[in-house]
Amino acid sequence: MTRKRVLSGIQPTSESFHLGNCLGAVRHWVEFQDDHDAFYCIADLHALTVETDPAILYKRTLRSAAQVLAIGVDPSKCTFFLQSQVAQHNQLAWVMECLAGFGEASRMTQFKDKSSKSGTERTVVGLFTYPMLQAADILLYQADRVPIGEDQRQHIELTRDLAGRFNSRFGKTFQLPEPYILKGDAKINDLQNPSAKMSKSTSSTQGVIEIMDAPEVNAKKIKSAVTDTGREVRFDEKEKPGISNLLTIHSAISGLSISEIEQEFEGKGYGDFKTAVAEVAVEFLRPIRQRALDLLDDEPGLLTILHDGAPKARVVAEKTLDDTYRNMGLVR
Ligand code: ATP
Ligand code: MG
Repeated sequence: MTRKRVLSGIQPTSESFHLGNCLGAVRHWVEFQDDHDAFYCIADLHALTVETDPAILYKRTLRSAAQVLAIGVDPSKCTFFLQSQVAQHNQLAWVMECLAGFGEASRMTQFKDKSSKSGTERTVVGLFTYPMLQAADILLYQADRVPIGEDQRQHIELTRDLAGRFNSRFGKTFQLPEPYILKGDAKINDLQNPSAKMSKSTSSTQGVIEIMDAPEVNAKKIKSAVTDTGREVRFDEKEKPGISNLLTIHSAISGLSISEIEQEFEGKGYGDFKTAVAEVAVEFLRPIRQRALDLLDDEPGLLTILHDGAPKARVVAEKTLDDTYRNMGLVR
């Protein structure tokens, strides 16, 4: 039996991933690589939507690769590569842009959120066309599944719509991908602003648990997480978004159910609870950070891993692109 395909990516938009990236996405990449034909990339082209100094982008890209490997992605079990080293991503993205409606692209909430932060004059066109490049990333590999966090659901829906539209217009060319979004750990929120998702590219990192931060720094951030004025450790996203987020984090790492954790802290205050969450999170992240630092000590080794991945990805991508062009009537 042929194994199902998965594709996922992460942008090098920061020197460190945060806990949400790890729990909502990359941790599942590790699970999938054993029984799926998995393709994982560092989405460095997507990161160009954020203006970044070249030296910083270079550094972030290598640090991102090291963190993916440190979390457990194993290049001998999957295809791990840099998006910009496989030119077919841009080529198929143009096809997707010619397929997508301006109106449907305008409805993407990530675009609305991110562009409203910087204002239209400072928003680049690439941020608007981002979901079409993402659709290309996925469709090039004929992915059956896409393990991602909840925030990316809308983009996968768009990808499915575009794939379906293409197939009905030009004949079956693309596999329709399913989003793989695990309930529970799929959305980790900002510790200081628990109604917004934790993001790599937020201006203040006070509420962001960065996996490359020193353990003490993260412990302190968790202990100063914003919570309500009550005393009861109870999951209630409306009334207690801060406590609920901490419960989600604890549960995603410890494997205990939310109600087991609620019971454990019955009659105890928020202080004890936060200390426990800090302990759980810090011990989970400590070895990951150390492995990433060790990998970064050997830059040539890291580059070799990435250079080995790109040709494997290109073979699959080229086949899909060729079929796509041919089916559309482009002369081959
Ligand atoms: P940026 O702010 O630059 O967009 P990001 O933190 O949103 O960064 P991405 O590189 O866009 O990270 O996304 C990588 C993966 O992490 C995606 O699968 C996304 O769904 C997941 N992810 C991002 N933020 C969270 C979060 N707060 N909780 C769970 N998963 C998340
Ligand atoms: Mg994002």
